Amino acid sequence: MQTGGTPIWQGACHCRRTRFTVAADIDHTRICDCSICHQRGALIFRVKEDALKLLTPLDDLALYQWGTGTAKDYFCKTCGILPFRRPRIATEAEQTAGEAIFTGWAINLRCLEDINTADLPVRTIQGSILPLA
Ligand SMILES: [Zn+2]
Repeated sequence: MQTGGTPIWQGACHCRRTRFTVAADIDHTRICDCSICHQRGALIFRVKEDALKLLTPLDDLALYQWGTGTAKDYFCKTCGILPFRRPRIATEAEQTAGEAIFTGWAINLRCLEDINTADLPVRTIQGSILPLA
């Protein structure tokens, strides 16, 4: 972390084939109960598009898409860890109902060096009730 300004976090998958930095004031973690977050057990924090800086190519990661096909789950091909993902985009109906489109990244906080996730307030997300199409 740097002193002053927004902290810069170093991130990596388990085998370090994927490495990145995240500029973020991390003040909570999201725990989502949708089928994939539930199985993965990831602690998520959302950041703006330009807060994530990849130090290794995105193409090195395997891509998994399901449900609406708008979320993008990126996995290291070597160690299988998901360091970050693109969240699902709100459906047209949801957008009509006023839900904003989120265009940034969801970071797996467990992949950040020196972060103490145990002290972070938890924001529970009910992904399980979102429509799949
Ligand atoms: Zn890896």
